[in-house]
Formats: sequence, C-alpha cells, structure tokens
Amino acid sequence: MASWNGISVPPLVGGGFPIAALQLCSVYYVGALAVHALIPYFARTITPVSKAEARRTHRAAADLRRQILRESFLSLGPIAVKAGVFCAVELIGTRGWGLLYDGPLLRAGASVPAKALALAGTVLALDFLHDTWFYFTHLLMHKNRWLLANVHHLHHQSHVPTPFSGYSLHVVEAMIVFLDEILVCFLFPIHVNVHRLYHLYTTLIHIGGHASYELHPLVPSLEQLLYVAWRGDSVSRELNTVLYHNMHHQYPSKNFSLYFTHWDRALETIKPGYEDEIGRIKKEQAVRAEGGGGGGLRRYYSVLVTCMGSTLALSVLAYLAAYNALVWVL
Ligand SMILES: [Zn+2]
Ligand SMILES: [Zn+2]
Repeated sequence: MASWNGISVPPLVGGGFPIAALQLCSVYYVGALAVHALIPYFARTITPVSKAEARRTHRAAADLRRQILRESFLSLGPIAVKAGVFCAVELIGTRGWGLLYDGPLLRAGASVPAKALALAGTVLALDFLHDTWFYFTHLLMHKNRWLLANVHHLHHQSHVPTPFSGYSLHVVEAMIVFLDEILVCFLFPIHVNVHRLYHLYTTLIHIGGHASYELHPLVPSLEQLLYVAWRGDSVSRELNTVLYHNMHHQYPSKNFSLYFTHWDRALETIKPGYEDEIGRIKKEQAVRAEGGGGGGLRRYYSVLVTCMGSTLALSVLAYLAAYNALVWVL
C-alpha cells in the first residue's frame, strides 16, 4: 500500500467493488453537497436557470430537504450499479479481453504534446460516444411507455432538479445508461486510469447538469473549454448548457442530449425558444456580473471557477479521508 507522510494513498483502479463504491460515493455525495451549498452562497452572482430556482429561498425548506433525502437514497442503487460496471471493466482489463491497456499512456519517448493530444482525443471521443448513447437510450425511455412509467419516471419526479438529481435514477436506467462504459473498452485503446478518471468525472458532469444555476461559459467539458478559448463568452449552438437539461425536466419531450445539441437538432427534439431563453440568461448574467460588487465578468468567472475547483478538491479529499478512515478502522 502506497503512503505519503503517514497518509495512505488510495488506489485509482484495481481495488474491486469496495474501492469503486468508495470513490463514487465520495465524488457523488460530496460533489453534490458542495454544488448545493456553494452555488446558492454566491446566488446573487450566479444566474438561476429557472424562475422556480430563483424563488428557492421561498421554497419550503422542508420540501427541499425531503426531495434531497429522496434523491440521495435513490442514488445509492445507480452508484452500486456503476461500481459493478467499474469492476467489470477491471476484469476486462486484467483478462485482456478489450482494448484497455496499462503502463505508460503512449510509447516510451513520446513527447508531452503528443501525450496531451492523445488524452484530448480520447476525452473528445468518449464525450461524443457518451452523448450519443445517452441521447438514444434517453429517447427510448421516453418513447417506450413501459420504460417511462416504470423506470424513467423516477428521475422526472424531480421537477425542479437539485445536484442530487444527477444519479436519482431507477437501477434499470442506471444499467442502461452505464453500459456504454463497458462497450467503449472494445471500441478503441483506452488507458485503464483514463477510463476510471473519465467515468468518475462524468459523475460531476451529471451533478453540474442539475445544478439549477447556469455554469456557462465554464460548463466543465473539454469541448466547452476549447470553445471558450476560441470564441470567449458566446453560446455555442452545438454545445449543451445547464439550462438545456433543466428545460428537459420542464418539457420532458424535448432536449434529450447531454454534451452536444446535434442529435436534438437532427431529430427535431430541441425545445423551440431555447436560444431566446439562454440569451435572456446571458443578459442577466452580465447584469449580475456588473451589479455583484464590481469586477464584471472577470469576477463572475472567478466565482464560478472557485465553486467548481472547490467541488473537485472536496471530492478528492473526501475519497482520501474515507480511504484512510477505512484503513485505520480495519
Ligand atoms: Zn435530469
Ligand atoms: Zn427524461
């Protein structure tokens, strides 16, 4: 067991179900709690995506508490399913059945830019495949009456989402949604560590998508960050926002995708009026940035980055602390 200054360093892969479950619980519950607590703290700055959320302070606190408790409990099933999927992926890797590999990311002597390019290419491919899988399985769960009534309805019980709505799913839905994490092992070579880190990170993406506060332009996906580097603060027609999925909870026959909007556009399932609404939110964002004690958009972005950085750091620290507590007890 690796250790540093008396602190046990937990493994990333290879720990089986207990380690996978510990990782997922730390990232999901601490991440959701951080987003739930931090963003409303800056609520005068960060723009809510729905009028209901704008009235959050007037929502009965007991109702909100009940919803979060229900969502937290329901999330346990999908977390167990995902931990099982991680175990299956570990098995695929150790048996050499798929295209997973261990050791160096690229062949010995590969330059840092080559490694960065390989990593970015893998993340973009995984984002595209995850979005495509999510879009069509999500559409299926709405078109098939049995699946909608008996499976997917659980997620839609959250009319006004909270960060804990992210994995508030039926276990059957979790099996369907997370199956692509196994399928990608057979499509192209992926380093085992990249596979695990990426799919832990998607947990935070699902939490952020239900934040109920608009994170644009810093929606933390690679393609969104590349778009910001290219076009700055403007909204891309092709990329999702928090508002986009929030509208799906209000209008369940629209906006099925996760990262990109192309499938919704091609199959005409995008909510008419989305562009107008995101335009309104961007205007409100600018007003709040100017009115939030000065500093303009620069301050606005620093608040967003603080919230996201703290969420990520707290999730990692929670895993480290939970692992060390476990080692100490055992
Ligand atoms: Zn949702
Ligand atoms: Zn849905």
